[in-house]
Amino acid sequence: MARSLTLLLGLMLMLCSQLWAADRLKVEGYPLDNGLQLILKPTAERGHVSIRLVVGVGFDQFDCDQKELPHLLEHLLFSGIDASGEAGLEERMQALGGDWNAFTRDSDTTFVLEVPAANQRAALDLLLAALFNTEFTPERVEAAKQVIVHENGEHPAAWQRLLGASSKRNDATEQVAAELGQACAEQDSLERLDAATLERVHEQWYVANNMTLIMVGDLDRRLPAYLERRFGELPPGPMPELRELPESTGHAAPERTMTTGLVGDTAQVNLIFTEPWVGELDQGTWQLLRDYLQWAVYRDLRLEQGLAYSPSVERSAYGSSSFFSINAEVARKDVAQAQQRLHELLQHLAKDGLDDVTLERLRSVALARQNWMAQGNSALADTYWSSLGSYEEGRFADPAPELRKIHTAQLDAALNLLLKQPSYLRVEQPLLSTSGLYGVGAVAALVLLLALVGLVSLLRRR
Ligand SMILES: [Zn+2]
Repeated sequence: MARSLTLLLGLMLMLCSQLWAADRLKVEGYPLDNGLQLILKPTAERGHVSIRLVVGVGFDQFDCDQKELPHLLEHLLFSGIDASGEAGLEERMQALGGDWNAFTRDSDTTFVLEVPAANQRAALDLLLAALFNTEFTPERVEAAKQVIVHENGEHPAAWQRLLGASSKRNDATEQVAAELGQACAEQDSLERLDAATLERVHEQWYVANNMTLIMVGDLDRRLPAYLERRFGELPPGPMPELRELPESTGHAAPERTMTTGLVGDTAQVNLIFTEPWVGELDQGTWQLLRDYLQWAVYRDLRLEQGLAYSPSVERSAYGSSSFFSINAEVARKDVAQAQQRLHELLQHLAKDGLDDVTLERLRSVALARQNWMAQGNSALADTYWSSLGSYEEGRFADPAPELRKIHTAQLDAALNLLLKQPSYLRVEQPLLSTSGLYGVGAVAALVLLLALVGLVSLLRRR
């Protein structure tokens, strides 16, 4: 970029910060010559800057046996840039008054920094050093693996598997997704992931044209020139082709009981559907239907029936599918009753239609939430990060108009369509209830007693 333009951008950052702060969807966004996308948002909040460096590589790009590669790489990049190792790197960030973390998600790996405004450029220098000066030694790779093993939890032992424990964390929707071929059935074994493979992933995906740098807050007016110099020197690269997300196989058991432990008296009932596509207003429709059902289920199961403490309705995505799940933690003895209530509630709502007044109320909550969710530099930076898909020419799309357009008739149609889809019931419960444990205990005591009696009589006969 020409020097005069950089200067102009710096000036604009300074002058317009008050003006731009008002419209949170509008940002100063432009790509550097190497393809690195910048999204800068000066705000009225002084003294602090929130930084998100989004690298476009996540779990989705890897097969099940190499799923953890981007996550392992993310951890490795914090392992140190010199002999002082991870501690030395962390101390340098502390000395800048900053805080950092990173997250690997399905579609990206993101480095999250919160720093005092005075040190924004120094913090970015340190981030670049971590990303590009870390040496991938076998010891560091091994240490990063240990951290991930700890984060993912231990693999279940053979006897736990026999009882139906899955090697995934307890997530019923993920289990259904795995059955449908949309998620991995087993946790990735880290053994085969070595330094050479990690180097290759780093080389292929950590290229300038696969990065977006988001900065929100009290931006330095010298920032554009600095970014041009330091981030502009990063090499672009030919990126690997994006992997196709797996299609659903359509085959999953309609009902399954999943064992979650040995003994306990509570169970979780999960009723799961895949969301069918409902056209142009798809996102808003499912979001509002989620809010509506969340309230309906809470009212019925918690307030009226007292069956479940905090039932919830959640949406999630695995592979190429979106899932809609209704979850309720209930007493083990109430599982059948809770299922019946849920079934009746959904049928009743689908038949009679949703209520206009309730929808208006919940819509006003959804619209208000969009405002308060994006308050403050850090929350605003997170909002940009999660909405990158809707970014275009200095603006993020406003979800509010879509939410305002949706009527009960559309939600009624979506609910009826949802109920026509195959449903997957997953009940998560421990192997035995407390009374079941007493029963097993009593039988074991009886067996022991009989054995003793037999032994005594045998000895007597001798
Ligand atoms: Zn991690």
